[in-house]
Amino acid sequence: MSTTVRFAPSPTGHIHIGNARTALFNWLFAQKSGGRFILRFDDTDVARSRQEYADQIQKDLHWLGIRPDVTVHQSARFATYDAAVEKLKAAGVLYPCYETADELERRRKVRLSRRLPPIYGREALKLTTEEKAALEAEGRKPHWRFLLPNFAADPFRPERTEVHWDDLVRGPQTVDLASMSDPVLVREDGTYLYTLPSVTDDIELGVTHIIRGDDHVTNTGAQIALFRALGAEPPVFGHHNLLTAASGEGLSKRSGSLSIKGLREDGIEPMAVASLAVLIGTSESVSAVRSMTELAQRFDPAATSKSAAKFDPAELRVLNRALLHAMPYAEACDRLAEMGIAGDRAAPFWLAVRGNLERLDDAAGWWRIVTQGPEMKPDFSDEDRAFLRAAFDDLPPEPWDNMTWKVWTDRVKELTGRKGRALFMPLRLALTGRESGPELADLLPLLGREETLARRP
Ligand code: GLU
Repeated sequence: MSTTVRFAPSPTGHIHIGNARTALFNWLFAQKSGGRFILRFDDTDVARSRQEYADQIQKDLHWLGIRPDVTVHQSARFATYDAAVEKLKAAGVLYPCYETADELERRRKVRLSRRLPPIYGREALKLTTEEKAALEAEGRKPHWRFLLPNFAADPFRPERTEVHWDDLVRGPQTVDLASMSDPVLVREDGTYLYTLPSVTDDIELGVTHIIRGDDHVTNTGAQIALFRALGAEPPVFGHHNLLTAASGEGLSKRSGSLSIKGLREDGIEPMAVASLAVLIGTSESVSAVRSMTELAQRFDPAATSKSAAKFDPAELRVLNRALLHAMPYAEACDRLAEMGIAGDRAAPFWLAVRGNLERLDDAAGWWRIVTQGPEMKPDFSDEDRAFLRAAFDDLPPEPWDNMTWKVWTDRVKELTGRKGRALFMPLRLALTGRESGPELADLLPLLGREETLARRP
């Protein structure tokens, strides 16, 4: 069977770099094996899920370079989950429970005081048909638990039952099904918790590899049991470490500025996000990777560390600069054209300014300086003005190239006796209005003699 992975966000907020890590791990894994990538919206919680978040997630993934082969919404698949429920009920492994949260809490305390593990004691399994009818007559509605296969004949005497899987990231894993409560799959109001829809879809959609955050490791034992109860072999699992903020706190969908949307609006390049999201917390060194193909080559889930990785937004800026400073014109040209940076001068302009950019949009300011002149006329001292006038009056004749600056400033140095900062800073200010920026040797030929002369103070 060919590889099929899925990224399964709940559309209850904007995705952040930690979610992007999961999406990219799946995407790169699929890329490497020529497999399919499913985008599955886990939107069974209709009250909290919003279409606008789903739309934004699709945009974010597209921006990152992820192209799902299939997109599904769990909210459109309730009939499938209902059928799975019937199958489990028929097999006698889904049973109704009527306890309230208070009752469960009281029982938990009793078990703890008796030094028993605080897991559900399956009391509801003992209810007779009459008792259940009486509870329902009182107006109680059942929630439904999945009977974990952790006993030989008597469900009230669970026995150690090991479930094993070879995790793509964490290596061999073992959980004991006797150490956990039978999970609730369906709530009192008939709504689904995450487990059943997830496993049902993973079966129905032919998912071969589940790659997700290690906050799901504890769910995996029960999910493997549920795959089997539904007549399917479980897929391969991989649980990657999570990213935390510099404070060590987990990232949340509410941390707006770290959302993919926020990073994009801040001018961070998609490959800067992808490089950091994939390489941080692995044995690979973090560096700016130019393309998804190259990132796929460097991606190895088994090289991921098992402990959480601290994510520092400042690192994104470093990667962003590195990408911009080496970005070929062909890669930037469409976005530059959108900003009105086009024509013969666009390519040499890009090569001249890219090394000074924090974000690609900053090129617009330099383009205005080159094509229209400095944003503000600098206020020169009389001495500097006299120096500049002498310098501008000595501009070499055209044609100009990137040697012109040196030729000109060598002559001005000789003529005026100025050197170093006293020579270069007034020239830079007169030409650009800024104290720092691209090499003037590169800018000068872009301006041409006439444009340059127009900047004579
Ligand atoms: N919707 C779940 C989450 O975002 C998906 C978990 C999974 O991949 O199984 O945590």
